Amino acid sequence: MNPCVMKFGGSSVENIEKMQAVAQRILEKKSEGYDITVVVSAMGKTTNQLLELAHQASVNPSKREVDLLISTGEQVSVSLLSMILNEKGHPTVGLTGFQAGIKTSGLHTKNKIEDIDIEKVSRHLREGKIVVVAGFQGLNQDGDITTLGRGGSDTTAVALGAKLNCRVEIYTDVDGIYGIDPRLYPQARKIDVISYEEMKEMAFLGAKVMEPRSIEIGHRFRVEIIVASAHTRTPGTLIKEFDPTMENKSITGLSVSERVILVSINHLPSGPKHTADLFIRLAQNEINIDMISQTHTPDGFVNLAFTASFDDAPLINDVLKQVTDKYEDVIISTDTDIVKISVVGMAMRTQSGVAATLFELFADHDIDYKLITTSEISISYTIDRVLKEKAVHLIALAFHL
Ligand code: ASP
Ligand code: MG
Repeated sequence: MNPCVMKFGGSSVENIEKMQAVAQRILEKKSEGYDITVVVSAMGKTTNQLLELAHQASVNPSKREVDLLISTGEQVSVSLLSMILNEKGHPTVGLTGFQAGIKTSGLHTKNKIEDIDIEKVSRHLREGKIVVVAGFQGLNQDGDITTLGRGGSDTTAVALGAKLNCRVEIYTDVDGIYGIDPRLYPQARKIDVISYEEMKEMAFLGAKVMEPRSIEIGHRFRVEIIVASAHTRTPGTLIKEFDPTMENKSITGLSVSERVILVSINHLPSGPKHTADLFIRLAQNEINIDMISQTHTPDGFVNLAFTASFDDAPLINDVLKQVTDKYEDVIISTDTDIVKISVVGMAMRTQSGVAATLFELFADHDIDYKLITTSEISISYTIDRVLKEKAVHLIALAFHL
């Protein structure tokens, strides 16, 4: 067998005409001698529309029923695309996630793939059929239909690639992964090859081309992933294991998170109990904290700052209210006119001076930052929203992104 997984997202299958083009593309690949498994998302904005219906039906719809509902979107595209491929004369079989042996676990609407019983898919492939599988869905231990979280079709595709031990091709609206979103910086360059680590970091930091968990699976099982345009034939971006030839760039990508809230809590009594109490309250409200900094003041207090998603602002304000009720002297401020700019590059592990270059750049151009965090391969800064464009352009120029 010579397997290959091809995945097409919602906008590539949003109507029958586009599905015809997708079918053509699949048949071309097939004629090159591949045994093809196709993964598709729901047509266009179907998933959003289904979620809207759920919220019209109920203020707080049961997550189990939400899964039952939104998984139907992918079934529609699977069956239609299979019909089109059959119509074009190629034996094809469409499978739901369940029929394809995808076993999941976890919370409804946020399931993880546990394993895939690949036997059925393999049998169809051996019989020479094109296998079309519904992305984004599976079956849990209780026999209930589940979904994998938004963008989960990428995860389905990469997990199938891991099981079939083959390369996965993700076809999308853009012609690959860019060092910076071209909408922010039109001169942005497409990346030819990127490591799993960098791609994962960029996806988690907000580059929306691929679902972060799918990269994690790709990394774990060493699945080569290609992200390419569904419309053109230009070579896309290859995501693979890091190798030293990729090291010639100190920064591979830059991403900007827009919906950020910065919370500063000053004059909090010093001591780990107080800090713990604050973060426990935030956690109890399922508020995901991103950056954190804490400094001690000479008079025995601490100044604390953290960032979180702007979407959680109402919940955060509730917690902050509890904090002001508890500590009389505390001074709290929040700022939503900020963005988080992050730069990512494997070379940071070994090269020194990336941070220094950035600090110098910001100093020379009067770009002030509030919080800074680092990981082994990234540095993030919060800066005022009005400085976003300036900072992005400066970094892009300095690092040839
Ligand atoms: N249809 C699902 C969504 O819109 C899954 C996907 O497109 O990957 O999130
Ligand atoms: Mg997607």
